[in-house]
Amino acid sequence: MKYFILFGPPGAGKGTQAAAIAERFNLRHVSTGELLRNEIASGSELGVMAKKLIDAGSLVPDEVVEGMIEALFNAVTGIDGFLLDGFPRTTAQAEVLDDMLAKRGESVTSVISLMIPDELVRERIRHRATIEGRTDDASDETISNRIATYHKKTEPLVAYYKERDKYMVIDGVGTIEEVRERVLSALEPFSKDRPE
Ligand code: AMP
Repeated sequence: MKYFILFGPPGAGKGTQAAAIAERFNLRHVSTGELLRNEIASGSELGVMAKKLIDAGSLVPDEVVEGMIEALFNAVTGIDGFLLDGFPRTTAQAEVLDDMLAKRGESVTSVISLMIPDELVRERIRHRATIEGRTDDASDETISNRIATYHKKTEPLVAYYKERDKYMVIDGVGTIEEVRERVLSALEPFSKDRPE
């Protein structure tokens, strides 16, 4: 099984690029943000708790997302792997993921990091707010907190995966098609169809 991680700041285009990557490698795309938004929509206790944190631009507790990911690893079959989008987001989550995979005799295949500057993060999120109506895209304060949370809690993962030789950075500035082209060609070495 392949375990790809789509990494990058909010608004980098992870969700947008995920479909093409998942299709190319027969992966299940798992967005923890999307799973949490589904919980909110269902009105579950977890959703109520998550909404407060998400709308503040904070992270939900590590155990919550770790549980969601493990449940999916156990449940989903008929695919060649997973494309994790928005997970892990803290070093603790990355360590738990490594343990979960080690227990299965597996490991992270590669981290695909989409990088864009902070100014573009704001611009893209403001644009997305007009299309998707996410409450956490609506306020400048929440966006600022998400950017700060990214730099403080998530960016240390760059070093974590570089040390493990799993980190691949892709310029996320450009049109959707240009970035998709870059991502798919960077992933070509992982293709099983590739001639030896
Ligand atoms: P996203 O759709 O990936 O931008 O996620 C939206 C929000 O969901 C984030 O700002 C966090 O509040 C929460 N969230 C998503 N994934 C995680 C995660 N791995 N750990 C903690 N919180 C998360």
